[in-house]
Amino acid sequence: MTFAYSQMPLDRCSNNRRNMTWLKREFNKQDTLFCLINDGQCFFKLDEITPLWLSKVQLQTLNVDQCIFLGKSEHGAIFAIDQNKLRFSNQEELLTQGQWLSLRQNTALLNAFDAGVLALAKGLVHWHKSHQFCGQCGNLNRSTEAGHARKCTECRNMTFPRTDPAVIMLVEKMFSDGVPRCLLGRQANWPDGVYSTLAGFVDPGETLEAAVMREVAEETAITAEKPTYIASQPWPFPASIMLGFIAQASSEKIDTRQDSLENAQWFSREQLTNFAVNHTVINTEAEQSKLAENGTQISSQNSPQYKMSSSDSISSYLITAWLNKAIGKY
Ligand SMILES: [Zn+2]
Repeated sequence: MTFAYSQMPLDRCSNNRRNMTWLKREFNKQDTLFCLINDGQCFFKLDEITPLWLSKVQLQTLNVDQCIFLGKSEHGAIFAIDQNKLRFSNQEELLTQGQWLSLRQNTALLNAFDAGVLALAKGLVHWHKSHQFCGQCGNLNRSTEAGHARKCTECRNMTFPRTDPAVIMLVEKMFSDGVPRCLLGRQANWPDGVYSTLAGFVDPGETLEAAVMREVAEETAITAEKPTYIASQPWPFPASIMLGFIAQASSEKIDTRQDSLENAQWFSREQLTNFAVNHTVINTEAEQSKLAENGTQISSQNSPQYKMSSSDSISSYLITAWLNKAIGKY
């Protein structure tokens, strides 16, 4: 199973990052490449959705302390740099060669190498930008260890890159009509008809399993049990990792009034397949009326059509795997 950003093609060379002699040698090699990040956007070629990798000669007055070492491919080292570290004239000149685009919106057009490296670059540049000052004394932090740590210039406190864990879960249930269904929700600002698995951040002092059960209860009032870990996906928007679970529900009645979801529904495999493939509404009137007796909300003719969230996400993997009976009990 592969998702966007989940394949890291680079050797991170973690054991060498404190070795300044080694780092400078990699920095100065002719085949070393640089990728630019600017306010969360990545630098692409003008005429195609491909990252524009730059050589050192294209970046004026660049020194190794301004750069973040990402790793080495078979072709050489790759560094990331926040474009704001470059001279304004250099920034303007580069704009004639490339364009700034959102990684998230263009990931589907990228190969696994580019998506993985840009995600790492974007995540680390964001971390540097949001940790410029020491969390203990408030003085300036400076980049160290090839850009994988920051050290306070006053109290010497070290800060390391952080990733926020978020759980994302497909909740399933065998209903009394013998049809297994899964629980999907949507937020009000999503495109019409898009439903996705539920998700939320892990609280401090909380296990991943407890986070799954709490988030499902908070968002839908459904009781979820026995969360089982499936897979994870780096999600640098701006600094998360999505931890995918499947869980079984022991209740049916959905209530979204206590949380931010606009709507949540139970979907059968038949509904998901028909909606996803044909974008047509199937007739579920019979099963709707049967289950309505229990106060159960299932997707029906009167509900928005289901459309899969983007295919490179762990959400769509969980839904597709459940559709194919590759995960879950039912
Ligand atoms: Zn400090």
